[in-house]
Amino acid sequence: MNINTSDRLKKLPPYLFAELDRLKKKEIARGKDIIDLGVGDPDQPTPAYIIEELKKTVDDPATNNYSMSRGMDKLRSSIAVWYENRFGVKLDPSKEILPLIGSKEGISNIPLAFINPGDLVLVPDPCYPPYKSGTIFAGGEVYLMPLLEKNGFLPDLESIDKAVLAQAKMMFLNYPNNPTTAVASREFFDKVIDFAAKNNIIVCHDAAYSEIYFDPFRPTSFLEAKGAKKVGVEFHSLSKTYNMTGWRIGFVCGNSEIIEGLRRIKSNIDSGIFQPIQFAGIRALESRQDSTAEIRGLYQQRRDILLAGLDFKGWKFFRPQATFYLWMPVLPGYNSSELSRLFLEKLDIVVTPGVGFGENGEGYIRMSLTVPTERLKEAVERIKKFS
Ligand SMILES: *Cc1c(COP(=O)(O)O)cnc(C)c1O
Repeated sequence: MNINTSDRLKKLPPYLFAELDRLKKKEIARGKDIIDLGVGDPDQPTPAYIIEELKKTVDDPATNNYSMSRGMDKLRSSIAVWYENRFGVKLDPSKEILPLIGSKEGISNIPLAFINPGDLVLVPDPCYPPYKSGTIFAGGEVYLMPLLEKNGFLPDLESIDKAVLAQAKMMFLNYPNNPTTAVASREFFDKVIDFAAKNNIIVCHDAAYSEIYFDPFRPTSFLEAKGAKKVGVEFHSLSKTYNMTGWRIGFVCGNSEIIEGLRRIKSNIDSGIFQPIQFAGIRALESRQDSTAEIRGLYQQRRDILLAGLDFKGWKFFRPQATFYLWMPVLPGYNSSELSRLFLEKLDIVVTPGVGFGENGEGYIRMSLTVPTERLKEAVERIKKFS
């Protein structure tokens, strides 16, 4: 029998980390003490009060059945309260909020609700990969919006061709940004809203890092900007905010017609979030948010250790105001893959080559702050010794 994958799988961008993954495995097998600054997954545990809520609710048989695709009423109303406290934006929990099985799930599925074959989706580059794969799975075409250093890693909306705009139905944005760590202002969002309304483009803003920020900076939400709800939605995740990456819980909020489209897709694909996880999410959102303040403090301390430790000649970092990454131009004479390979082979340190996030990520590497502080200090020592 011939088993042939679909064209949509064949159309996915190449997986550029394969070579680095292979090298990493080889070095570990050889007994090397690898420090992995490549992963974007918190090293710290989920706070105990959240785990307690799961334990308490899982014993009730009523929580063990299928849940509803729109999520528990109580979860949607606690999201509305959290959102208003945090951003000062009121949301109608009956139609402007939809819980997700992690924000990646909603991001990957939303093109299925609005994109027809041949439609263009404007995607920032470098970027979180599901913006591209979700578009391709829906039969859409990815149109890259380069995120360039000279523009503060914001897309240059004015440079997009009229013919492109006529075919574009949707755009993805992500601030605070992974991988560049850039942040966006309210004025930028105002421009996006104007642009989207004029060109009839649905805006999908990914705010996964809205709570991972450093004093005195605090990110604004897309929905705080005037008119945002008319043109778009915002994706949020409990993954980074509460160290809950493995639990799979997030939400999308904003324009009710856009949310209803995604809900209809989802109701045909999944059967909601396991209810004890929804209860745990409610507990997290209704908490005093002290655990998130602690998480921020830890990343800030780690950021400062790396920035101070790696402040040599020729090394230049963008000082992040948010996210748990550092984004850094490569050293002269290397491209991002070569420099990542050098880090692995000579220093036993894994970093992510920028090109893995898209062609405009070439020329940069990303380092993650999600390893124990002692290990970060060790990484600084290794780099210092080497240079
Ligand atoms: C981590 C991350 C997410 C969150 O994913 P979940 O599916 O909610 O765990 C979304 N967007 C970006 C850019 C991320 O880095």
